Amino acid sequence: MSRIQLLDPRLANQIAAGEVVERPASVVKELLENALDAGGDRVDIEVEQGGVKLIRVRDNGSGIGEDDLPLALSRHATSKIARLEDLERVASLGFRGEALASISSVSRLSLTSAIEGARQAWTAKAEGREMAAEISPSAHPRGTTVEVRDLFFNTPARRKFLRTEKTEFNHLEDVVRRLALSRYDVAFSLRHNGRSSLSVAVAEDRLSRERRLAQVYGPAFMEQALYIEQEAAGLRLWGWVAQPAFNRSQADMQYFFVNGRSIRDRLVSHAVRQAYRDVLYHGRHPAFALYLELDPALVDVNVHPTKHEVRFRDGRNVHDFLFRSLHRALAEVRPEAGAPESAQPGGSEFSNIQHAAMSGQGVGQGSGQERPQPIRAQAPMPLGAPAGAGFDSQSRPAPGQVNDQLNAYQRVTGGPAGAAHVAPMGDDAEMPPLGFALAQLKGIYILAENQQGLVLVDMHAAHERITYERLKTAFAEGGVRTQPLLVPQSVALSEREADCCEEHAQTLANLGLRVERAGSESLVMREVPILLSQSDLEQLLRDVIADLMEYGSSDRIAAHLDEILSTMACHGSVRANRRLTVPEMNALLRDMEDTERSGQCNHGRPTWTQVSLSELDKWFLRGR
Ligand code: ADP
Ligand code: MG
Repeated sequence: MSRIQLLDPRLANQIAAGEVVERPASVVKELLENALDAGGDRVDIEVEQGGVKLIRVRDNGSGIGEDDLPLALSRHATSKIARLEDLERVASLGFRGEALASISSVSRLSLTSAIEGARQAWTAKAEGREMAAEISPSAHPRGTTVEVRDLFFNTPARRKFLRTEKTEFNHLEDVVRRLALSRYDVAFSLRHNGRSSLSVAVAEDRLSRERRLAQVYGPAFMEQALYIEQEAAGLRLWGWVAQPAFNRSQADMQYFFVNGRSIRDRLVSHAVRQAYRDVLYHGRHPAFALYLELDPALVDVNVHPTKHEVRFRDGRNVHDFLFRSLHRALAEVRPEAGAPESAQPGGSEFSNIQHAAMSGQGVGQGSGQERPQPIRAQAPMPLGAPAGAGFDSQSRPAPGQVNDQLNAYQRVTGGPAGAAHVAPMGDDAEMPPLGFALAQLKGIYILAENQQGLVLVDMHAAHERITYERLKTAFAEGGVRTQPLLVPQSVALSEREADCCEEHAQTLANLGLRVERAGSESLVMREVPILLSQSDLEQLLRDVIADLMEYGSSDRIAAHLDEILSTMACHGSVRANRRLTVPEMNALLRDMEDTERSGQCNHGRPTWTQVSLSELDKWFLRGR
């Protein structure tokens, strides 16, 4: 007898299942993808015991004909692609033809379906070693129901890895949420052990989409969300990003869809992180639901069995587009954007960026019956960011150094809170977005009055942001001041890394880093930015090269410089407890209106908040 044997079909399927069916959530993902591919507008999911006992997914899509039913359960059988060219421009979520075969090899699966105009629905079940499907007549409206019972009943090793019912259900729920955010044209419902856990209707317009988003993400996200829409050279990006003040300790609110497929991608995360870099405290994560649309031929979806990853044919271009779109959208966050009644700034290049809270008002919660609420719920503070000192000690320059540099920069920037301009107070004068200062509270907050009511400003946070932006501008205009190293530092690298560095030598020089090739596997650093002379330059250079090789660009030097400028800004800003005169306060308000990203300080804390007249009325139960 020969030692090599063909595996029986069931075992072959079970091996394949090892890759795609890890837990109940993965079954739900595959079944939902099939349901969405079938083109209906409603999917209902019912699960018991975290999905281990039962998963039932029902759709009203195209259905499967009697003859096709047995094929649907066999491996390498799909209706979605036929040729290699199809694989190169897949528009459906599925295409591998493996899911049903794999799932049915590790559970008790039944597939019931009816197509349009059929007199009869049919059920298919596959069992036993050969996995031949048994077909029997049944009843079902147009569409398909797949029932998966007793997952892993015949693969005890897998069963052992299952966690508690609650954990499994959490994973499963996350899958359903993601898919619910991927297709607003489909209604979804999810029930667990007979209790409803999610139910969303078809959402055609932006308002109802935002309502769905609020149901999935919670109303707090929506209150802080900005809607964005950008298009360039065949790429379209739309969706919602949370303002930096709404940030997370984990990357758990980050949904990114490429042509409707939810993916996790390093290139995407890098671009997003880079866009938020300036406005988010180190170690905090932004929240977003973003949709990228492009020609399917420009993305390879056949990279990973679970289809969680994609590969862009022109990754650098996509990276660049994402970064620029988001960076701009975030830079737009300044007082105008938050004032509900004020119009968008005329002629703004980004007038398609709007404050989602405007249209998302009343989302998810009955307005009107709420108890009076002091100040609209602001974003959570970043943990570990002590007021006014949110930088890590490593990147903090020595005190003397800060002062010297600060003095140099203050010459450029005109020092803290230049009280040069005095606000006009006449009746005919137009009310600026942040209004005019009334008083200072406890040396920390400025109270001001504007069109909508009361404005509260955290004076230190606001000033810090302004100083920082000015330092950055001055820095950018004056170029990077560099200093030659007394002893040039040699760095050992791989040949590829050294080549890359040589190729980008000019880019590095523009950033103040002069490097020269010293051998096939080494470089010398001759000149560095003054501001960075205290940093671990070798590590910085290595990180920069890694970025250049992967993304074609690197913002590490800039990021590091920004970090230091931010520290300097922090030291150079008005400290809490300093008394400001009214003209000084007004000058600060005007500066905030003029400054990019002034909606939050450098550490992502909000700098100001609005308490509207109607909110004040609510506190005092005054009907208007
Ligand atoms: P794939 O989705 O990669 O094609 P599957 O094993 O998930 O492979 O499904 C096999 C085939 O069964 C699909 O190509 C499709 O034709 C059919 N099918 C599965 N689920 C459904 C459904 N809910 N509605 C209609 N057809 C379905
Ligand atoms: Mg499928």
